[in-house]
Amino acid sequence: SVRWGLIGASTIARQFMINAIRAQGDGEIAAVMSSNPERATAYAGENNIPLAVSTLDALLGADIDAVYISTTNELHLEQALAAIKAGKHVLCEKPLALTSAHARTMVAAAKAAGIVLGTNHHLRNAGAHRAMRDAIASGHIGKPIAARVFHSVYLPENLQGWRITKPEAGGGVVLDITVHDADTLRFVLGDDPVEVSAFTQSAGMAGSGLEDGAMCIWRFRSGVIAQSHEGFTTKFAGTGFEVHGSEGSLIASNVMTQKPVGSVLLRTANGEEELSFDREDLYSRSLRQFHAAIRGEGQPSATGEDGIWSLTAAAAALQSASSGKAVKIDPKL
Ligand code: NDP
Repeated sequence: SVRWGLIGASTIARQFMINAIRAQGDGEIAAVMSSNPERATAYAGENNIPLAVSTLDALLGADIDAVYISTTNELHLEQALAAIKAGKHVLCEKPLALTSAHARTMVAAAKAAGIVLGTNHHLRNAGAHRAMRDAIASGHIGKPIAARVFHSVYLPENLQGWRITKPEAGGGVVLDITVHDADTLRFVLGDDPVEVSAFTQSAGMAGSGLEDGAMCIWRFRSGVIAQSHEGFTTKFAGTGFEVHGSEGSLIASNVMTQKPVGSVLLRTANGEEELSFDREDLYSRSLRQFHAAIRGEGQPSATGEDGIWSLTAAAAALQSASSGKAVKIDPKL
């Protein structure tokens, strides 16, 4: 079995990851760490976790095989490096760190220690995105030409904390959502972004100079161009993902989400066809792949290198927005 320690008494762990770990036949949650002892104990009680601790040393000293890091983003680096040093496998939330250089440090340390490190880009595990990737790879839309990602949502009130008030914690919509879009575009297209131009806005929710909306234009290695829209302030926009090719288009609706929902339409000269895809829980599939990787079977669904790519892309978008210039994307891998 794989015994997990949770680093961070977070919402995402409570809503999705605790269940996803327990959904694995061989997954167990052994301990949770919060910086606040009372919160650790309360969280452990509410979620039926046997051990609550309030220091990283105590967590890493417990009988665990792997850690799931879902603290605020400025803490990921130091916590991952300590876990790697203690020989624990690491599934880390996105963005891996606040800078691409820090993400590279993390990934290099894991590699040197021979431990598994994964980035929790859940959307790669969505049946909808895997169906689109397969359709493109099988040539169903011919040569991909352009993509459009619609991922502007309304940040629920219970999450309107550090994301909109704390630049030092890695707040802002770009590090929150654009990282996912960059990763999902890479995954679906099977291509890497090489350049980005972005505009950001503060549309009334985020303070402290943080952005709560972004529009990015991406150029990929193959010549494909893509646009993505990320936001915290649009209540009624809906989400989607489209890829348009020389012989067809893929039009997916309601697929930039944490749930295995939505639809994917393939439109070609032969007409329109709804693609069928599996509806497995995204986070559960992520855990299944991660457990397999620990056994030496394959890789996590999003690797540390994938996390370096998505963070480098998001950081380039931020740099473009502040400089007013297009910025090259180089993950230095
Ligand atoms: P939360 O705000 O819920 O938790 C982050 C930290 O805030 C916790 O580690 C906790 O610190 C502290 N905290 C939580 N609740 C309270 C509270 N009531 N009072 C005071 N402090 C509190 O963050 P999220 O779960 O939304 O995000 C955590 C990470 O996961 C981020 O890196 C984010 O980017 C990522 N994420 C990824 C998603 C995905 O689908 N891949 C989705 C959502 C988030 P402590 O641990 O010290 O108690």
